[in-house]
Amino acid sequence: MQETFTGSFTQQEPIPDAGIDAAMAVLQSGRLHRYNTVPGEFSETALLEQEFAALTGARYCLAVASGGYAMSTALRAVGVGPGDRVLTNAFTLAPVPGAIASVGAVPVFVEVTERLTIDLDDLAAKAGQARVLLLSHMRGHICDMDRLMAICAAADVTVVEDCAHTMGAAWDGRPSGRHGIAGCYSCQTYKHVNSGEGGFLVTDDAETAARAVILSGSYMLYERHLAAPAPEVFERVKYATPNISGRMDNLRAAILRPQLAALGDQVTRWNDRYRTIEEGLQDTPGLTLPKRPEAERYVGSSIQFLLSGWSAERVQEVLRRCATRGVELKWFGAPEPVAFTSRYDSWRYAASAPLPATDRVLAGLIDMRIPLTFSIADCALIARIIRAEVSSVFQAGH
Ligand SMILES: *Cc1c(COP(=O)(O)O)cnc(C)c1O
Repeated sequence: MQETFTGSFTQQEPIPDAGIDAAMAVLQSGRLHRYNTVPGEFSETALLEQEFAALTGARYCLAVASGGYAMSTALRAVGVGPGDRVLTNAFTLAPVPGAIASVGAVPVFVEVTERLTIDLDDLAAKAGQARVLLLSHMRGHICDMDRLMAICAAADVTVVEDCAHTMGAAWDGRPSGRHGIAGCYSCQTYKHVNSGEGGFLVTDDAETAARAVILSGSYMLYERHLAAPAPEVFERVKYATPNISGRMDNLRAAILRPQLAALGDQVTRWNDRYRTIEEGLQDTPGLTLPKRPEAERYVGSSIQFLLSGWSAERVQEVLRRCATRGVELKWFGAPEPVAFTSRYDSWRYAASAPLPATDRVLAGLIDMRIPLTFSIADCALIARIIRAEVSSVFQAGH
């Protein structure tokens, strides 16, 4: 009899008890707004920012309403405005070009490699076209950050990092989000910590941090922050910076603090699952797993593989067969966006030059989420199913 998988690809773990207790205490206090504090009290949000700054080694941290908000705020804070061009990955998800569009700027898409990272040769060729790069570490794949930063420094391009899939990851020992001027993270349910919605912006640059705090809607109460610059920095920017409210609240912060404390253990659990699937897919005929370099410390919260050179019909046949056996795979080659899996040519507000390398990669790119509710045995089973179905469709075509 054929094995099938019966678990859910969208079921997260519960919020830790410590988070539920802290959330109840916030609810009982009634002080949900981050600036609603009693004398001598620091809000859950301020404490969360202090803890996330410590976790990433950043001087400053701001907690906000979403990862997308963190990115648009970072772009505004570094001076991106209407009509400006912003370099970004062609292979990413909709919140990234959306953040660029939200400030009236225009994305310039850069090709992707078979390692699923930004193509640094294409970046070098296009670097003269913009002053800012919004770099997306899409699906947790980190490019050679040393070379990327050298390219951007030479072309005077400011780097803002989208770390929605790299919270807890690092390049050559340096936490993801700490290479460019600012790093942006998401706390949305499907990312590495879960408050439903939420985000972080980290930076070492005092004026960027002060502008971000004011942009987020600080009502000039910035002295209630624990991970913000000194008041004199705010004096320099406060009259020139608009309030575009997008704050974190104390309820979400209370839920997040125990999750941040457990992030290291969660990363280990994700990687145990990732490596089980990776191992199970090794040497499957017709299937390529992206090589992960030594310097990359990744978080295996999802896995990708390539069916390079396959026809759309055969890729769809694999997806269909796996779905019948309970394994939900996403495909970046589909002509229409499906749920989260959109592609650059479906963002029609942001016209793009042809991107042949990206088209080639996306045509064979399969993506699968790895929720922590999967056991190691579940992961081994999923890999057996994918391996069997990919092999059999591949062999039938040869
Ligand atoms: C989820 C995500 C974000 C941020 O999304 P929000 O839903 O706004 O928190 C940014 N970039 C990528 C690649 C994402 O997947």
